[in-house]
This record gives sequence, structure tokens and C-alpha cells, in this order.
Amino acid sequence: MPRDVSTTLQTICDEVFARNPGEVEFHQAVREVLDCLGPVLARYPEFAQNKIIRRICEPERQIIFRVPWVDDNNEVHINRGFRVEFNSALGPYKGGLRFHPSVYLGIIKFLGFEQIFKNALTGLPIGGGKGGSDFDPKGKSDGEVMRFCQSFMTELYRHLGEHTDVPAGDIGVGGREIGFLFGQYKRITNRYESGVLTGKGLDWGGSLVRTEATGYGTVYFVEEMLKARGASLEGKTSVVSGSGNVAIYTIEKVNELGGKVVACSDSNGFIHDEQGIDLDLVKLLKEVQRRRIKEYVEHRKHAKYIEKGNVWDVPCDVAFPSATENEILGKDAKTLVENGCIAVGEGANMPTTPEGVKIFLDAKIAYGPGKAANAGGVATSALEMQQNASRDSWTFEHTDQRLHEIMKNIHQACYEVADEFGSPGNYVVGANIAGFLKVARAMLGMGVI
Ligand code: NDP
Repeated sequence: MPRDVSTTLQTICDEVFARNPGEVEFHQAVREVLDCLGPVLARYPEFAQNKIIRRICEPERQIIFRVPWVDDNNEVHINRGFRVEFNSALGPYKGGLRFHPSVYLGIIKFLGFEQIFKNALTGLPIGGGKGGSDFDPKGKSDGEVMRFCQSFMTELYRHLGEHTDVPAGDIGVGGREIGFLFGQYKRITNRYESGVLTGKGLDWGGSLVRTEATGYGTVYFVEEMLKARGASLEGKTSVVSGSGNVAIYTIEKVNELGGKVVACSDSNGFIHDEQGIDLDLVKLLKEVQRRRIKEYVEHRKHAKYIEKGNVWDVPCDVAFPSATENEILGKDAKTLVENGCIAVGEGANMPTTPEGVKIFLDAKIAYGPGKAANAGGVATSALEMQQNASRDSWTFEHTDQRLHEIMKNIHQACYEVADEFGSPGNYVVGANIAGFLKVARAMLGMGVI
């Protein structure tokens, strides 16, 4: 990389860090993208001349708001709500809402920043955004969750619209929460605007396959990476972290493709079932009863539950981190590689620390970073918007086929661009450059805005 290019990128990084103090996850996400852009700036000096990278790193709009609500004992609580509308060069802001006590501006900005490039990779007309709250839905009654969602939407609605900003789910936000949010939006605006939220119920504008999409899409991406190496998931052993939406449908698709998942987790510990995880039981515990994963072993006596255990210690051929950011540390990546892991598909966003990523890349295993591997969720959200706009609803098979094609195309784009820019087999470089080029070209075409 020419010296002036690396100096420019370092200067931008320093400026972003200084301008956004303490937002360590955002810094990490920016650093990862900028580390890949040297060859792009060397080839296209117009991006630097027009300060495209500096503009991409600054959100178009950031909204922070108070969310007061009343619990079942009539006690008043105050949470903080966020929506970061990061980039609309390719379409309306699109990205999920996360309800988790760890949420603060730095988490929402890292997720929103990743979302810009992920959404570009899907090839669909969607910009990047993200939102959420430090509200913890765990242990709350349905009534409490509903009152929180109504209060959250009472502020957020004024910033949304099917052509403006279209949220969806993420950690702690599933079908129940999207229902409460949509109901309140409809009530306040007096508009049945289906396209304003995705992940809706199937009876009122939702899309088949949206629930399954992130997990299925991640598995499709891994299958493509393995295919490029003459391998497949069939007969392979996998480990999945988390036991939420992404984890469950990752397990389902791995099983369908002839693989076996032997472990999954939650934030308290993990279960290990050498016979293969009983997915119907996990669905019952997590989706229907909203219980903890440790209850699995009460029904499957041969399986083990390891309280506070590290799921990455379980030997596997393929790892699917599907819980949260920075869950695979350098030492975990080392363990996975030493145990013979040949592929990693990130269902979660930024689940591997920079040290872990380096270990995977140095070991030359098939490593699919989240912004490419888990793009199937948002892609299917965009398909939900298409169905809403045309007042149509597609079959499961058709929607799944569209998802599968999109994931194959994302894989192909990452693979080819990595090669073109001198890093064959490196999907981090491929995803970051392919996503960046789409957004940067659109921004260049629209002038300084
Ligand atoms: P869910 O809320 O359905 O499930 C999250 C799972 O991860 C739970 O098992 C949860 O355990 C675990 N988890 C969450 N936070 C932590 C933490 N800090 N430490 C350990 N475990 C944790 O969320 P999703 O499945 O929707 O999301 C999982 C990941 O996938 C996130 O990174 C999200 O950003 C990403 N993603 C999701 C998409 C979607 O369509 N839903 C799309 C693209 C990416 P516990 O119950 O103990 O908290």
C-alpha cells in the first residue's frame, strides 16, 4: 500500500476515535473496515478527494430519547432509546432494534456502521441504520414489554416511514416486540403502513422465511465457502453459540444439510449433546416457554449442561457464533483451530475479536465475517418490504429460493473482490471492499450531502 494512502487511513481512524470517545465497539468496527481499504484508495483517488470515508464514518442522524414506562407493580422506570440513521445512499435506513442492558451509543453505532456495508452486499435498495434500548426484556411480563414498546414507539414513530427508516428485530426484539411496536405506530399515525417495520406476524404483513432467514442464510454462506474448497456440511459436527432466533434456525438448516450440531448456549452456560441437539425441544423451551437453555438436560438426561462454561471448548468442524459481539476471543479462536475447526460462519455481528480474526485468517480456515454471512436476515426483510409494497405474499419455497440466491451472490462477490484486490480467500477483505464500493459510488454520484 502506498505510504500516503496508509497515512490517510490512519489519520481518518485517529479522527474517528477522537470524535467518538469511549465507543470501543464502534472503533473496532471502523478499524476493521478501514484496514481493508488501502488498495481501494490507491486505485480510486476520487474517494479520498471527496472525503467519502470520513463521511461514511459520520452518521447522517443520531436520535437519543427517554423511554419512561410503568411495571406491573406501578413502579416507574426510565430507559434510554437510540436510533442511529447511518447512511441512506442506497435506500431507506434499515437495521434492527436491540433491547439488552449492555446497549449504549457505541454498540448501536458499531451495529449501524456494519449494517451499511452488509445491506450494500445484499444488492437490494436499503441504507444502514440501527437502534435499541438498554431495556432488559428478560423476566418481564408481556404487559411490561408491551408498555415499554408503546413508550419507545411514541418517540421513535416520528423518525420512521417506509421510505425513510424501517427497523426490524435483533437481540431481545422478536415477533412479540415487533407486534407491539407496529400496533403503536399504526395507532399514533392512523396509517396501516406495513413497510415501516419488518419481522411482522404472518397474518399482518410479515414474510415467510423472515424468522428463519439469518440462520438459514449463514448456513448457506458456509456451504458456499466449503463448496469453494471441495467440501460440504454433510457429516460435519458443528457448535452454535446462543439459543435465540439466529442460533435456532442455524441448527435447523445444518441438520437439513446433513450436519450435526452438538452444542449451543445462553449467557449462563452451554449444553453439550453428543447425539445432536434436539431442536424441537430447544424451540419449545426458548420460543414457546421463554426458558433458560439449562432446562434442556432435565428432558435429555444423557446431555450435559456446563454452567459458565465456554462453548468454544467443544471440538467441532464448523463454528457458528450466533450470540453477541466479541464472544470469540483470541484464545477461543486458537482452541477452535487446534481442535480441527475448518470453517466459521458468523451469525452474530462482530462476534470475533480482532485477535481471533487474525488467528482464523492465518490458519487459512474458511472464515465468513458477519457482515457477509448473516446478511440473509436483512435481505429477507427487504423481500418483506417488496411484498408489502406490491400487496403480495410469496410462498415459503419462493422466498427461501430468493434468500439462497442472494447468499450465493454475496459469497461470489466477496470471493471475487478479495481475489481482485490481492487477498484471495479472505472474505473480510472481500466483504468490506465489495460493500464499500457500492456505497461509495452512490455517494459520489449524489454530490456532497
Ligand atoms: P436473540 O435475542 O433471539 O438471542 C440472543 C442469544 O444470544 C440468546 O441465547 C442470548 O442468551 C445470547 N446472548 C445475547 N447477549 C449475550 C451476551 N452478552 N453474552 C452471552 N450471550 C448472549 O437474538 P438474535 O438471535 O436475533 O441475535 C443474535 C446475534 O445475531 C446478534 O449478534 C445479532 O446482532 C445478530 N443478528 C441477528 C439478526 C436477526 O435477524 N435476528 C440479523 C443479523 C444479525 P441470553 O438469553 O442468556 O441473553
